[in-house]
Amino acid sequence: MASLLSNQNAFRRLTERAADIGGGSYLFWGPKGLGKMEAAVEFAKSLECLKKTPCLNCRSCVDIDKRIHPDVLIVEPKIGESGEEKEIGIGEVRRIKHFLSFFPQSGSYKIVVVDKADRLTEEAQNSFLKILEEPKGRAILILVAANPGRLLETILSRLFPVKFKTWPREEIYRLLKGKGADEKTAHVAARKAMGRPALAEEMLSDPHDDEQEAIFELIDKSAAGRFVFVEEILKNEKGNEDLLDAGLFLFRDMLLLKLGLNDLVVNVNFREKAEKAAAKYEAGKIPDIIRSILKTSIILKDTNANSRLALENLMLQI
Ligand SMILES: [Zn+2]
Repeated sequence: MASLLSNQNAFRRLTERAADIGGGSYLFWGPKGLGKMEAAVEFAKSLECLKKTPCLNCRSCVDIDKRIHPDVLIVEPKIGESGEEKEIGIGEVRRIKHFLSFFPQSGSYKIVVVDKADRLTEEAQNSFLKILEEPKGRAILILVAANPGRLLETILSRLFPVKFKTWPREEIYRLLKGKGADEKTAHVAARKAMGRPALAEEMLSDPHDDEQEAIFELIDKSAAGRFVFVEEILKNEKGNEDLLDAGLFLFRDMLLLKLGLNDLVVNVNFREKAEKAAAKYEAGKIPDIIRSILKTSIILKDTNANSRLALENLMLQI
């Protein structure tokens, strides 16, 4: 099967390592959209699969997918009323502790996967640290994080890091074709995903057109209108990441259009609109905007700085 861990050898080494040391604690990290979580679940399946392959069809593999496997616990942030991802609190860490206090029913491992582990509160992290410090039976802990900088150093130092890298465009194209996408769709999504296979797959069902429309509207807004817009996007953490991504691609396309490099444009569906929007800027201004978007993106993801301030500053640049 096509693994989302792009390197099959890395996957095999990981499984062998787990067998050698009887478990272990891991950090799957890298930007979002690289399939870290899918790979973590696949890793769990490969360890629990009754046929030892991840066959995806045995009872063990099916139960992991349904999240009812007695030896595999998957923890993730809960979603709030307005669609925002909540933090992962100490209650969830207690649930993990309780789960690990039992012997594996299958006779292999107790496996815990924490998705978006960078959303663990400090209190939860301190409690999780104790789990890492205590000797466990045959247990595997996998923390999945796009922003490991938000995790305590003491936690990071106890995890075996597995870094996820971007894929070449051709490989993503092949993956999408393998999933039944037609040639044009696969081509466009592979371009737009910029090396991130899971994002490319997501784009097959949601090409992020809404976010791109929102950026075009933003360009025409007054300063006051832009600040209202900041308030709206602050309500949804996932939303503002997608929006900054979309902004990055659009301004990149505008720059390419300015330079006459039309065949490198990613958002082919929005080409006309992008041309009109590009006409509003001096060519020299667009790279500054791209840098500002990148900077804002880093501030929002990797630091605890004031998101409102960062976004408002960006609004003054666009
Ligand atoms: Zn199986």
